[in-house]
Amino acid sequence: MTMIREAPVEKSKKPNPTAHLKTVPQEREMRDRIRAEAFQYAKNIDRSKTMNKAALQKLGEDLLKQAGLEEQYLGFAMVSISNEFWRDQVSSIAFNRRLLLLPHCLKNAEGCPADYDEFGLDCRKCGACEVADFKTKAEDLGYKVLVSEGTPIVLKIIVSGHVDAIVGVACLNVLEKAIDKILLAGIPCVAAPLLSSNCRSTSVDNDWVFELIGLKTAPPQHKPKTYVHLMRASNQMFEAADLSKLAPRSRAKGAETDPLTQHENIAYDWLMQGGKRSRPFITLAAYDALTGGKGTLSAEGLELSDSVKRAALSIESFHKASLVHDDIEDDDSFRYGRETLHRQYGIGAAINVGDYLIGLGYRLVSRERNAIGAETSADILDKLADAHLKLSEGQGAELLWRDAKDKTINALDAMKIYALKTSPAFEAALYSGVRLAGSAEKYDKMIVDFSKYLGVAFQILNDLKDWNGDSDNKMVAGQDVLAGRPTLLLALALEGLTGGDREELLAIVHGEHPRRHEDLLPRVRQLFTKADVFEKAEKLVEKYRAKAEAISDEVEPTEFRELLYYLVDTVLDRPEPTPLEMAPQLVSLHLPLVHA
Ligand code: SF4
Repeated sequence: MTMIREAPVEKSKKPNPTAHLKTVPQEREMRDRIRAEAFQYAKNIDRSKTMNKAALQKLGEDLLKQAGLEEQYLGFAMVSISNEFWRDQVSSIAFNRRLLLLPHCLKNAEGCPADYDEFGLDCRKCGACEVADFKTKAEDLGYKVLVSEGTPIVLKIIVSGHVDAIVGVACLNVLEKAIDKILLAGIPCVAAPLLSSNCRSTSVDNDWVFELIGLKTAPPQHKPKTYVHLMRASNQMFEAADLSKLAPRSRAKGAETDPLTQHENIAYDWLMQGGKRSRPFITLAAYDALTGGKGTLSAEGLELSDSVKRAALSIESFHKASLVHDDIEDDDSFRYGRETLHRQYGIGAAINVGDYLIGLGYRLVSRERNAIGAETSADILDKLADAHLKLSEGQGAELLWRDAKDKTINALDAMKIYALKTSPAFEAALYSGVRLAGSAEKYDKMIVDFSKYLGVAFQILNDLKDWNGDSDNKMVAGQDVLAGRPTLLLALALEGLTGGDREELLAIVHGEHPRRHEDLLPRVRQLFTKADVFEKAEKLVEKYRAKAEAISDEVEPTEFRELLYYLVDTVLDRPEPTPLEMAPQLVSLHLPLVHA
């Protein structure tokens, strides 16, 4: 049955600081000229290296300078260069492995008879706009086609393994947001910019779109590096068959009603749920980077033994255990869009599932001692135990602070808790991959420091997201202060406010404020703004990002250094909220949903 859905509501627009750089030339002649310049210019780009937004911007600026064109065309020039960078790659990918993403704003706004269903805009091909023509041509060739704003899900669709390249049509604003993620992950992608960004009855150079859809050549000699193969390998480990092979179930043959089998099923089901698999990805990618980086060149280049995969799996097992316990301690209701385990099965059973996953995590590494050597196994186990202890310390400190009578906190103490709570997982994941590739001695200190800066910056970003109503997957936003968490934002506010304002904030944190609970958030936001909390926190994110990058600068070999840059950029990404309306589209393509 087709579900009729509401058309997406247009969001109110914030001032756009880069608007002056994103003019699409209104004359066709100028558009063609920039494309032609980009074609020539891109001939000399080194395609064996990964490209990021900063590098692309430099190229765009250089192209405009060389061609004597105005900076207002920077966005258009960047898209044109990016298209040339990826053209050969996209051309060599089979049509049925490509996704065509079209924006729904292309439709004829006055009379489009199409409804929105679980697939996005269900074009009826009335012929009143180009959507029908693009869709028909692409589908005839074998493309999968979505008519929707798809920026946040592009990476997820690619990682799911069902498509290998994107041909997109979008406005420069959307492309600007998408470009960094897509370039960083090394996803082959070409795009045609809409001629305007006004979100209604837009248009595009039709012939350009048809040309992009029809690109087809033999595989190029030089392939840009990509982390997609490693991401997929990380995801694949949690598919039922792979998981059963890597971590065989003890009670697999038991009856469904047997409590031992039930318990094991709950634990494995939880392990397979959601998540970006970013921690196991780090282990696999670090191992790959230090053994030649062949996994970034092709799927066939991946040389990941079961031992390496089991070490990566153990990192996720610990992570999942910590989430179960976290959810109990915070009494969170939802995780990955589902009820949390303790809400489903009760606190006792959930605690036990967490304990089971910790045991499983240790065993996945200890049982590999014959394959990887007792010393390597012991070193990794030691790092895992260390991470486990630090995480418990950080969480313990937070819980005790929450129950304390005096809830004052300073920024230094808040960051100490952050370093303990978030950094050890990065550290253990990175260390495991490095140690499996050989001696980790020369990377020991680097791994600790890099993970600390990355973890602290990540946690501060998370706090900021909590105020942006983008609380990843708990389905509750802006609640940290009301829940009495010792966040850095609170610490900065308490340090920045004086007199009555400070007293009022403390009263809120202590649950002693006379206003109703749900009315307090706007007041907290006012107080935070008054203390410049958000700006200070943003500066700290940038400070710690710079520190992590400075450490990366010194790392050899290149493959490992590039991975560290990639981790900084992706872990400290500022994702747009995933539109809930996109979720059914993933299901429709039989793609697993990948949550944060
Ligand atoms: S062609 Fe499709 S999208 Fe365009 S107006 Fe007709 S039904 Fe709507």
